[in-house]
Amino acid sequence: MATVNDKIAEGMEFLGQCVAGDPALGCMQCGMCSSSCPLGTAMQYPPRQLILQARSGNLDEIIKSPSLWMCVGCYNCSFRCPRGIELTEEVWPALRDRAMQLGIQPPTELQAALQNTFKYGNALGNSPRKRTDWANNLDVPLRDLSQEPSVVEVLWLVGDYPSYYPRNQVVSRDFARILTAMGVRWGILGRDEKTIGDCERLAGEEGLFESLIEDNIQVLSKHQYEKILVTDPHSLNSLQNIYPKRGHNYPVEHYAPFLAERLDQLKPLLAKPVEATVTYHDNCWLSRRCGCFDPPRQLLEAIPGVTLVEMRRNRENGLCCGGGGGGMWLDGHIVEQGGQRLSDERIREAASTGADVLAVSCPFELSRFEDSAKVTDLEGRLKVRDIIELLAESMDLREKETS
Ligand code: SF4
Ligand code: SF4
Repeated sequence: MATVNDKIAEGMEFLGQCVAGDPALGCMQCGMCSSSCPLGTAMQYPPRQLILQARSGNLDEIIKSPSLWMCVGCYNCSFRCPRGIELTEEVWPALRDRAMQLGIQPPTELQAALQNTFKYGNALGNSPRKRTDWANNLDVPLRDLSQEPSVVEVLWLVGDYPSYYPRNQVVSRDFARILTAMGVRWGILGRDEKTIGDCERLAGEEGLFESLIEDNIQVLSKHQYEKILVTDPHSLNSLQNIYPKRGHNYPVEHYAPFLAERLDQLKPLLAKPVEATVTYHDNCWLSRRCGCFDPPRQLLEAIPGVTLVEMRRNRENGLCCGGGGGGMWLDGHIVEQGGQRLSDERIREAASTGADVLAVSCPFELSRFEDSAKVTDLEGRLKVRDIIELLAESMDLREKETS
């Protein structure tokens, strides 16, 4: 039977594997991580406690706790930690991975999303054959590289929700029109596209993530392109920060900086005023993790008629929508454990600015915030729009029924 000392040694070894340096010296228990966690007060083991309990030999208790499935990957704890301890990207996923290896199953909805990703390459459980369904009514040429290989300037990874989810499909068509109007030679992977797997990795499915890397690098190696463009900031994070750690480097950019760099070209196309007071929600992975704060704002400010106002918590202090790190599939569990849907709190904050549009740049946020607008009785008062939609409206490129 393991003694207390064995358990402490096991906890220290575990921490040593997932945090850089000497784990005994690293964390000083300052509590910055827990106090900046938007769900910390509802967790049995908020981030500071994870380290303390692991050091004290209580790994088993942590991984059995429902608290293990309450992190939504907002990156606040890692961002604030004065010792640079990678709680979000290393400690939480390693604990979740360990739990699953020991047969402890995640909450049902997350389990289903992970199983879907194993089976179909996307958390929604849709067939790869339907990957291009979003483009069925597209009125600009589509270059599907899975059907017809071709050299392109931009390889656009459309992403799971933008490929399959009806509300996001509208945005995908808008983006296709914008790229075309700007004269960009773009192509997509069509049925060969699979999720990049960032959320699955943070949810603890390291094995699944490794197999997605293998599949994705194989597909990406087949094509010639100057740049990979992503609509999903979680994919940006993996391709920019995680794939290189495994030896795979790609020139990747999120759509917001890509378009903002081309503002000189874009501005003359933004001809139609969009009269609206807009507030922008900094999504955690584009902003706090990848440091992109200005480009989304530059795009919004370039649209004639738009007045940009800021929420109280903005830029690096922005409040998470609760959808990252597997959070898209953990709402039920989090509420059951005494937490709250962060998107409900965030949309109230957006409304308090007096804005009539909440602008977003992450595919998860459209459905999350539109749902929150209904729950909080803000539906008629505050519209949720991807920045792409506002640009397309100003460029007069929107579909008739959605403009
Ligand atoms: S912020 Fe860093 S040093 Fe402070 S308690 Fe959290 S993990 Fe430890
Ligand atoms: S990533 Fe965010 S939600 Fe997760 S523990 Fe850290 S601060 Fe809390």
